[in-house]
Amino acid sequence: MNIATRLVSYDRCPGDRYRPVATPIYQTATFEQESALEFGEFDYSRSGNPTRRVLETQLAELEGAVGAYAFASGLAALTAVMRLVRPGEEIIANDDLYGGTYRLLSRFVEPFGVAVKYVDLTDLDAAARAISGRTRLVHIETPTNPLQRVCDIRGLAGLAHKRGALLSVDSTAMTPVLQRPLGLGADIVVHSATKYLCGHSDVMAGSVAVADAALGEQVYAVQNGEGAGLSPFDSFLLLRGMKTLGVRLRAQQASAGRIAAVLVEHPVVKQVHFVGLSGHPGSALHAAQADGPGAVVSFETGSVETSRRIVESLTLFGIAVSFGGVNSSVSLPCRMSHASIPAAVREARALPEDLVRVSVGIEHTDDLVADVSRVLNEVGRENGCDGSGPSAAQTSGECLVGS
Ligand SMILES: *Cc1c(COP(=O)(O)O)cnc(C)c1O
Repeated sequence: MNIATRLVSYDRCPGDRYRPVATPIYQTATFEQESALEFGEFDYSRSGNPTRRVLETQLAELEGAVGAYAFASGLAALTAVMRLVRPGEEIIANDDLYGGTYRLLSRFVEPFGVAVKYVDLTDLDAAARAISGRTRLVHIETPTNPLQRVCDIRGLAGLAHKRGALLSVDSTAMTPVLQRPLGLGADIVVHSATKYLCGHSDVMAGSVAVADAALGEQVYAVQNGEGAGLSPFDSFLLLRGMKTLGVRLRAQQASAGRIAAVLVEHPVVKQVHFVGLSGHPGSALHAAQADGPGAVVSFETGSVETSRRIVESLTLFGIAVSFGGVNSSVSLPCRMSHASIPAAVREARALPEDLVRVSVGIEHTDDLVADVSRVLNEVGRENGCDGSGPSAAQTSGECLVGS
């Protein structure tokens, strides 16, 4: 069956004699047992809860995983993955990561004796040189956020496995609807379910799905032992949100494609980063390992001031960190979501200060396109390029005044 069908068609209430269509919220901390010696399926909600169990079964099914574990946030999920690495071992991380992941590694993993090397893992030769016998984990995002660099999941899985290491993929920007890394050889898939999986900007949640039962036991031990499992109510909200993931993402992705086309044509815009554009350097590789480009588009204007004016003039795009919600949003990553990466590191990684990131929601495409076009034309007129000439992306960029 198609994934859009599987998102709604699953056992929502295993064994419930009333047969409700939505999964009940088992808002209980503990469970009475048959006797002092006989234990039921659940005993304490940190260790396991029926609402969370339905969610985890569903997440595992969607990813083609042996097991999945729901956490209180994406970062709690990533923390559980990093716990698989022991002091003295090493993590090879892509050099273009979500700011919070960078902060987790630099402040809470490295100081505890785990070496972390940041490498451009879009380059398989560089990856092959970096991965060593000490490497326990290779961790990537693909496409990266916000520059949409694409890593070869199959290629990296092969290189990691050759050295006895695991490959973990943060697939937040894609969701299992668009990309299923375990099927491409990855061992672990992580999501910030706060984004598309929930889709309504009202839950913080994360997920870890694994390809192998022994790995699952280790992740479960962290979930139970550290206590960051997702609460019953948030598990319910996530189950509710995920039912519409297929239709949401289809609509959001279609609008994102239209907006990317408008951006590419406009002289105020210097460069567009969207893996759905044929000129994007990673588009062919991405198309070979995913079913669509997603609905996040980022672009540069050549001027922080111009970018700020665009961000502040849009009316349908709220200024907010995060992405993946039903409401469109816009941000300046260097000042917002990625501000936790020191400026020097951002510069070394070529994360431009003028970068604007747009998360496209489910508003009508025509309204979104009209809002973007209006703002670009306004800012263009103020800057002395009104949108009628050739695109700055194709010229020397002399329209880019206002820095
Ligand atoms: C948001 C995000 C995270 C962190 O997730 P939280 O739910 O905010 O803790 C991790 N990775 C990526 C790619 C993200 O976008």
